[in-house]
Formats: sequence, structure tokens, C-alpha cells
Amino acid sequence: MVAYEPLLGDLDVDVLVIGGGIAGTTTALLRKEAGRSVALVEADRLASGSTGRSTGTVTSQHDLFYVTVVDKVGEASAQRSAEANQAAIAILEGLTDRHGVDAYPSRLASHVFTRDESMVDAVRIEADAARRLGLPTAFVEDVDLSFAVAGAVRFDGQLQIHPSRVVRGFAAAVAGDGWSVHEHSRVVGMSANGDTVEVTTERGTIRARQPVVATVLPVLDQGFEFAKTRPSRSYGIAAGLGGEPSEPMHISAESPKRSRTRTRIHAAAARRPVPAVTQLAPPTGSGPSYRRGTPTPRMCSR
Ligand SMILES: Cc1cc2nc3c(=O)[nH]c(=O)nc-3n(C[C@H](O)[C@H](O)[C@H](O)COP(=O)(O)OP(=O)(O)OC[C@H]3O[C@@H](n4cnc5c(N)ncnc54)[C@H](O)[C@@H]3O)c2cc1C
Repeated sequence: MVAYEPLLGDLDVDVLVIGGGIAGTTTALLRKEAGRSVALVEADRLASGSTGRSTGTVTSQHDLFYVTVVDKVGEASAQRSAEANQAAIAILEGLTDRHGVDAYPSRLASHVFTRDESMVDAVRIEADAARRLGLPTAFVEDVDLSFAVAGAVRFDGQLQIHPSRVVRGFAAAVAGDGWSVHEHSRVVGMSANGDTVEVTTERGTIRARQPVVATVLPVLDQGFEFAKTRPSRSYGIAAGLGGEPSEPMHISAESPKRSRTRTRIHAAAARRPVPAVTQLAPPTGSGPSYRRGTPTPRMCSR
């Protein structure tokens, strides 16, 4: 794995991106393609934040979501959100193609399913709302899982990637041609100076005309955002199968959330796809995450 040197000394760039996850590396590469000089600084290793621990599904589907968005902001704004989601899939795929990033991309169907008969109407309504916004969706009852579901919204043509390979590939493309990427370079200070912002890391300073903070939580938090965060933990299992796993991606509509995807093992044996299941658990300390009869991660992996 390529290691990037910490920032030692001073830099002067058009765009400084703070944070080496999917948001930061994608932004940095897009700005570089637009002809800007770019630096990216990461406090730890690239992809060491939530991106590297995610299941790598790049989808327009986010739970039962579009009904709520239409209610809150109206159909026109919801449509722009839907279009932005679809565009993001194409942009990410385009960047991996143009820069030769081998992140095992696959276009697959993605499903949000329910096993709860009382939620079927909500799932059906979500499918209708998403279809009206122009998304490639349908209500379905068969989702190719080893247990019965009551219904699901299927989104066609979504993207599955290996998230840390994307981040590392994009960083490598940014770092070429003299622009720089620095790991172990935590931002500890920031001040405005005319048209530029001066950003201080532990051992260097960067002057940038456009700083981009892509750190999930704001750095140098003056709004006490950290006080609104809470710890939570997700559990995952990956299991090799004798044959090919079923193709689509799945996530449950009900809590606790269970997400099932296929991933690829690094082991030489030919980067075989294996199913991976993530259990998105409730906040730490808030009680048991299983109800009797809900499918466990182990069940979902079959
Ligand atoms: C179990 C799990 C599964 C998920 N699965 C999916 C999925 O399948 N699909 C999906 O779309 N989303 C998924 N998500 C959510 C997704 O992972 C995140 O929304 C996304 O990865 C966030 O990316 P990011 O680049 O904004 O942040 P991160 O990947 O967290 O990157 C932020 C980076 O900023 C760095 N940083 C912080 N402070 C500083 C500082 N002061 N100076 C410099 N650097 C700093 C951090 O070290 C970190 O590397 C999942 C999340 C979890 C927990």
C-alpha cells in the first residue's frame, strides 16, 4: 500500500482538501481535472475514516427516503436530489474509468426490503414516489434472498465498489504531476487572510484559495457539533461460498438495519466475490439489537 509523507513545510495551492475519505479524494480529483492545483491532507491514513469501513454501495437508494423528501421540499427539489444521486453514480464510475482505478465496480440492482407485512404499503408508496422522480425503480416481491420478504423497492443499475481502493486510486491520481497528498497531517488551525485561507497542520502550513473540509465532523469545531455525536458500532461478516453469490445489494427497511452486499477478497484466488453482511447496530448501550425472528447477519449471508 502506497504511503504518503506528512506535510513538512509550506505549500501554496488553489484547492486544499482536508480529509482523505471518499468525499475528499473525489473532490480533489475533480478539482484537479478542472485544472486547479490541489493538495489533500489526511490526519491518519487514507480511507481510515468511515469510507474504509463502509459496504461500498453507491446508490440513489437510501432507505425509505423519497416520500419524506417530497413531503419536506416538494417534488421539484426532490427530483433534483434524485438526479444528483444518479449523477454521482456516473461521476464516480467515470473517474474510476478515466484514471484506471481498479475498484471492482459492478452495476447491480439494489433493494430495500421489508419482512414486515405492515410495512409493505410504505415500501410500495416509496417505489411509486421514486419512479415519479424518474428513478429506475419498481416494487418487487422476489429479491433473491434465502429468507422470505414481504416486499421491496428495487433500484436498477446501481454501483458496487471497493471503497478503500477507490480512495487510494483517486489519491494516486491527485498526487501525480506535482500535486500532493499527505497522510498523518492533521489540520490544527485555520485563518482567513484576504482571498486565501491559511491552514496549519502539525508540521506545515498551506495557503489555499479554496479550502474544502471533508472530515464528516467539522474540524476546529466552534459550533460544538461534536456534542451532538454519539458512539455506535456496526458488525459485519464475510463468508466465501462454493458458488457465485446472488448479485443484487440488499438493505432492510426495518431496524436494526442489515445490509447485504458482495465484496471481493484480496486473496489471489482470483478476487472471487463473496457476500458480506453488515449489521448496522443501534447506539452503543441502548439495548439488544435483535428481535426474535429477525434475520441475523448469518442468515443474510446465505
Ligand atoms: C458500517 C457502515 C457502512 C456504510 N456503508 C455505506 C455504503 O454502503 N454506501 C454509502 O454510500 N455509505 C455508507 N456508509 C456511510 C459512508 O461510509 C460515509 O457517509 C462516507 O464514507 C463518508 O465519507 P467521507 O469522505 O465524508 O468521510 P470519511 O471517510 O470518514 O473521511 C473523513 C476523513 O477526514 C479525516 N480527518 C478528520 N479530521 C481531520 C483533520 N483535523 N485533519 C485532516 N484530516 C482529518 C479522517 O481521518 C477521515 O479519514 C456506511 C457507514 C458505515 C458506518
